[in-house]
Order: sequence, then C-alpha cells, then structure tokens
Amino acid sequence: MKDCQPVPTPVPLLPHEGLVINIQGAGPHKPGRYRKGTDDFRYWVAREALCRGLSFWRTVFDCEKLEARWQRGKGRDQSLPVRLNELVDLNAYYDRTRLDFGHKVIAGETVYTGESPDIVGHELGHAVLDSIRPELFDAESDEVAAFHEAFADISAILSTLQLESFRVSVLEETEGRLQNTSRLSRFGEQLGAAIRYRRPDTVDADCLRNAANSFFYTDPRKLPPTGPAVLLSSAPHSFSRVFTGAFLEILAGMLRIESKGDNPTVTELQTVVHCAGRMLASAARDALFEPAFFAPVARRLISYDETVFDRKFRSAILTGFARRGILQVGEVFARPTTPPKRQPAASEGPVEPLRFDGRRFGLSDCDILVQVPVENGKKLQKNGVAEPDWEDAAERFLLNLFRRGRVELGELEVSLARDAVHPPVFLDTPRSHELRIADGSGKKPTVLISRRFFDI
Ligand SMILES: [Zn+2]
Repeated sequence: MKDCQPVPTPVPLLPHEGLVINIQGAGPHKPGRYRKGTDDFRYWVAREALCRGLSFWRTVFDCEKLEARWQRGKGRDQSLPVRLNELVDLNAYYDRTRLDFGHKVIAGETVYTGESPDIVGHELGHAVLDSIRPELFDAESDEVAAFHEAFADISAILSTLQLESFRVSVLEETEGRLQNTSRLSRFGEQLGAAIRYRRPDTVDADCLRNAANSFFYTDPRKLPPTGPAVLLSSAPHSFSRVFTGAFLEILAGMLRIESKGDNPTVTELQTVVHCAGRMLASAARDALFEPAFFAPVARRLISYDETVFDRKFRSAILTGFARRGILQVGEVFARPTTPPKRQPAASEGPVEPLRFDGRRFGLSDCDILVQVPVENGKKLQKNGVAEPDWEDAAERFLLNLFRRGRVELGELEVSLARDAVHPPVFLDTPRSHELRIADGSGKKPTVLISRRFFDI
C-alpha cells in the first residue's frame, strides 16, 4: 500500500510552476487587516483562496504524476488571469482565458463574488479539472456538465480544508461527522443570500448549494430542465448536488475509517482530504468518457482505492455511491472492481459531427453541428458516426440549453431566432453556449454550437 500521509502544505506563493495565476488590477497590496468591500480585502481573500487551491492540487498532481496545463490556447501567455473588479454581474466565470468575478448592488449593498473563498475555489476548480481533462469542457451532456460543477464545488471544499483553523472549527461544528451541515457543506452563503433576495426558490435556504443533502440519482433525461432548489433538475448546477452529496458522505466515511472512531483529529482530516483529492483527480482523468459520467468516475474511485490504498476506504466509497444510486447496490458489492480505463486519444481521422435540425429548437431552417467527443475514438463513435448514447444526450442537452435560454445567438439573432425561447430579461440568464456560422454559403446555413464558460 502506498503512503497516504498528509503532505505539508507548501508555502503559498504566486506564481506556481506550471499552473500560473495572475491577479489583475491595481497593486501592490500590503498584507494587513482590511474592511470587507475594499480592494485590499478582496485581493487578499481571493489570493489566499487561489493559493490554497493551487497548492493543494499541485501537491496532488505531483503525487499522481498528473500533467496539468491551462487550456488558454496556443500562442497565448500561459498564466491564467484573474479579474476581481471589472464585471458588473452577480456571477463568476471560467471561460478558459481567465477567471472573472462579478459584483452587483443588492438591497443597497455591493456583493462581490470574488470576496468569497467558496466562489473563488469553485471557479478555480473548473480550471483545474480543465487542466487535466480538457475533453469535458465542451461535452454536450447534462451529466458531464454536472460533474464539472460537482468537481468545482468539491475542489472548493478540499481547498478550504487546507486551512488548519478551518479544520478545527469544522470538526467542532460537526462533532467529527462531516456529513452534517456546516460551514464546510454550505457553499456560497453570502451569494446565496443575495440571490435569495430576488429569487428565493432558486437557492437553498441557507446557502447557494448545500453538500449535506439527500438527493438520489435519477437519469437526468427523466428530470425537468429547471426547477426550484428543493427539487432535483437536470440543470448541471442542480444535478451536480447528487455527486457532491455522495462525495461529502464518502469523505466523512473515510475520516471515520482513518480515525477508527468518533473523535477524529485535524491531522487525520488533513490525511483523508489529501487521499480524497488524489482519488478524485485520478478518477476524473481516467474515467471512461460516457454521457452518463458519474458512474464511470465512481468506478475509477473504487478501483483507485483498491490498487493504491489496498481497499482501505472501500466501504466508505461503496456506501456513498450506492446510497445515492450513482452505482447499483448489486454492482458495487458483488463484483470485483476493475473498470476499463480510458485510452489515450485514438487518431482515427476526423469524426463526423452530429447534425440536428435547427427547427427542432425553435430556430429557422438550419443545421446545428455538435462536435463528437474524440478523445477515445473507438468508444465514442463507430464508423465515423457517434454512438446512440451520445447522440441522445447531445439532443437533450441542446433542447435544455434552449429551454433555459442559455444559448447566445449574437448576430444570428435576426436570421435564426424565429421562435427560439428567450429568457426573461430580468433573470439575467448567463448564455453559457453560443452559435456560430460554420457554413453560410448554401441555402440552409450550418451553425456550430460550443461552450463559452462555466459559471457558479
Ligand atoms: Zn461552476
């Protein structure tokens, strides 16, 4: 069994080798005590949260020999810029080129999303996952997008636990039972309160999303595309709570195993956080690329524990995933767990994109192209055609994007948006995807849909 002792937290310095972050704006900022709402306060909260997250994941990646690289594109400076002040919006974004944190006046008070370590940790989590598994960014599947959101929330949880004073307070607050609601599980309390002021049904009663939840896996194709926070929908932020909830319970179970009882120490907590991070990163990288993505990741977590930790945490992982229906009880308890591992990208030439009739989504007569994931060509397409699972997932994903008003039409608004669903202006719905002309030469234009960003 390989060692899973806590690794001393590296001294947080910017930039980190390999994954470099650059906070933009006026400086320099002297360390000190600053009032909430000031530039200095915001800078230091964000900087410390980014350092904790980067230090944690760098340590994990080093252990796993995982290669990580920001996905900024060729020819661009490879440091990831962070903007804390420019955007007027009650949201935060990762769009591959930068992290952007907005602010907005709510009930006379300016709420800065970049002042929340949870939100900063979440957006960094999107960038971190993208740095080791870039194929997930633009996958047209609600469940893959939900995993991205879950990973981002879990990244914030694990990064926050790098702070010893926070580990102490969480163990006190939960009496050593991490599955209980606490400052750890309540993600985005301040932002949740701000959104609740305008749209009370869209967030949890005590925060944005509480990882201490009871949601059970349901095929997202059978769920409504949107819904109030108390119900599960196929919207990625909502559906992510199934995986995040399972992971919090798994972390709690791992802590009980590590501590052999009810009185875990901060050191034992640090140990299981490190182990959990290693398992999650490795599973996210290696899981088979399927539109129903939770189960392949869960299987890789079990397999990782088996080969690296000699099944030490097996009961916690099996219980967590079986209780949530992410894996079937018979499946996880009955058979040996050696799930297939994804293979490096197969170079089999260009893959024909999926093609959908735009009228199906309320657009004028056009074809919408969806790129088929090509990471593992043999698995995802046969004879140049996408497998039915991906075609079905992509069609539902598109339909839900239009229903939720998440598609930016830009200059195509006039020519294509005949009967498209438009979000009410007051909702300020972030348009996470966009349509661009791929070929406008024929009678019927062909447009390509792609992701612009992940938000909170
Ligand atoms: Zn997000």
